[in-house]
Amino acid sequence: MTTEPQDLRIDAARLWNSIEEMAGIGAGIAGGCNRQALTDDDRRGRERFIEWARAAGCTVTVDQVGNIFARRRGRDDAAAPVLAGSHLDTQATGGRFDGVYGVLSALEVVRTLEASGTRTRRPVEVVVWTNEEGCRFVPAMLGSGVVAGAYTVDYAYERRDADGKRFGDELERIGFRGTAPAAPRPCAAVFEAHIEQGPVLESEGCTIGVVEGIQGAYWFDVVLTGQSCHAGPTPMDMRRDPWSAALPIIAGAFAIAQRAAPWGRCTVGDMQAQPGARNTVPGRLAFPVDLRHPDRAVLDAMVAELRALVQAEGVRHRIDTTVEQVWHMPATRFDAQLVDLVESTAGGLGYTHRRLVSGAGHDSLHTARFAPTAMIFVPCKGGLSHNEAEDASPADLAAGANVLLHSILRTAQT
Ligand SMILES: [Zn+2]
Repeated sequence: MTTEPQDLRIDAARLWNSIEEMAGIGAGIAGGCNRQALTDDDRRGRERFIEWARAAGCTVTVDQVGNIFARRRGRDDAAAPVLAGSHLDTQATGGRFDGVYGVLSALEVVRTLEASGTRTRRPVEVVVWTNEEGCRFVPAMLGSGVVAGAYTVDYAYERRDADGKRFGDELERIGFRGTAPAAPRPCAAVFEAHIEQGPVLESEGCTIGVVEGIQGAYWFDVVLTGQSCHAGPTPMDMRRDPWSAALPIIAGAFAIAQRAAPWGRCTVGDMQAQPGARNTVPGRLAFPVDLRHPDRAVLDAMVAELRALVQAEGVRHRIDTTVEQVWHMPATRFDAQLVDLVESTAGGLGYTHRRLVSGAGHDSLHTARFAPTAMIFVPCKGGLSHNEAEDASPADLAAGANVLLHSILRTAQT
């Protein structure tokens, strides 16, 4: 007896058991995982994944930066594939679900197609991206970043961990320096299932997060330089006090984020005054500004406003100013049609769902640069992640995997 494609469901117990088995590789000390990129435990996790993928009928290729692609043939095997996956590396005190869920739910989709004898027109590929976490080798999302052209292969090879070990050497050592070019791949669609890593779905009793995009962020260091002088003898109007510029700059920066409500964010997380004495006007103030918004154009406009504001207040108060960009995560808007498809798939399966913007970075940020991409979130307990106590319910994980299954079926066409 064959199951009609629309009646297919993933095997929740098989998915859960695989997540549990993976959690035993590089198990942490408090119930979570320590399976950092390119360690022996990462190698063991990768090897287990490859065994599972081959057993599910896939052929496996590894690219120059260790990204793994497990491919299930399509009826039209020359057609651009549908890609789904995430990462297997974890933080030093990471959870059992972050990344792993995206890989193993995609594997579960392939197992379900294989067990039911369902052929898709397009090939389906399960991807394991290298070094997503960025805790051993900076930057995060490195493997997908090389494929998207954000970094070169050599740049990746030259990254070093805290002990000075090179990414390229460690990749070679664990046997995952492949030969397939790490370059943009033609893909019909890319999906990444992930735990939310935030509290919204759980607090609203909602099962599926339909992710519209990833918040963009800029980090700046702002330095205001005036002249240090005695707090007593110097009249207020004869000072070059950097605070005179800092106050309108900070108020103005908050107003920039408020004008971009509800998604605009501005955070000033620190303030350093020099020399830092109670009875001395500081000569120098230095503080970081963190600006965020999910829409690239809005975020860029916020940045331009901040720069103009700092400059104008500097001139007005005779304060020298510098604004240095120290980090940037581009705002990503996922493919509108694919987001609609995930939403209607979740609704069609009878799951409660809502749209969300991801506050955290994911490999999908990079795949969206070369292929239509969308993400599926499921709740996690207390919104907790990057913590060994990270938890998610088998029922929610199964629901997300069923949304992934039917999103893949619709894009890969049975
Ligand atoms: Zn992740």
